[in-house]
Amino acid sequence: MANFKTHITVASLLSGALAASLYGVGRVAPAEVWSLWVLGSIGGILPDLDSDQSRPSQLLFASLGVLGGFLALFAFSAGRSILEMLLLLLGVFLLVRYLLGHLFARWTTHRGIFHSLLAAGSFGLLTAALAHHAFGREAAHAWLCGAFLAFGYSLHLVLDELYAVDLSDRTLRRKRSLGSAIKPFALGNWRASVAMACCAAIAFLATPKADRFLQVYGNSALYSDIYRRFWPAEGWPLFARFGDPLAQGNAPSGKSEAATGRRR
Ligand SMILES: [Zn+2]
Repeated sequence: MANFKTHITVASLLSGALAASLYGVGRVAPAEVWSLWVLGSIGGILPDLDSDQSRPSQLLFASLGVLGGFLALFAFSAGRSILEMLLLLLGVFLLVRYLLGHLFARWTTHRGIFHSLLAAGSFGLLTAALAHHAFGREAAHAWLCGAFLAFGYSLHLVLDELYAVDLSDRTLRRKRSLGSAIKPFALGNWRASVAMACCAAIAFLATPKADRFLQVYGNSALYSDIYRRFWPAEGWPLFARFGDPLAQGNAPSGKSEAATGRRR
């Protein structure tokens, strides 16, 4: 297994399964399933933002550059020529991808504050605030977007805790010591921890009201509904089509009771 692939695969699979489950009980629309899946997958690689010159870091700063460029374009495009808009897009992209990326690499250490539960919460809150204010999502869905990003982010920390990930993409080695990837905050760097806590507090102040989100997603009825809908109510479709070999004495028949979908 490759390291980057491990993170992106696990985050994609689990956030996809979670989003599909919410779709299965009618909680989210098909278009929202896509955005939740993407957010969970991004969360799965986001902590490696602090690993200098790693693939996730390069990819993330390039993506942030494109996102920042388009946000600037939408905010300042009124009355501008197409050439001015393209220059604005390119300028913001280069600023974020190279200048911010370079400064970030200088000021952060790999597996520092960005590999902590505090950072997972901060990025989740920031996502909820952005989803609401920049992308116009209603409050409960904006919080769900934040929850998916924080979920993917936490999955990354769990995987890092289980394995030492070789960032050059060659091998996957077991860690010698456990307990350094999942931490509440950067234990040896209080300045970074305080700065991240301040970012979390600012992001929290910018988030919409969470009461509707808590009412829906903090309710056990939703999870019992998912559990109830998890198994096929009419038996397994595969057995229903070809006949249940156990019920038929290993002689599948198209006319069996199982085949007519009346399995008990
Ligand atoms: Zn990591």
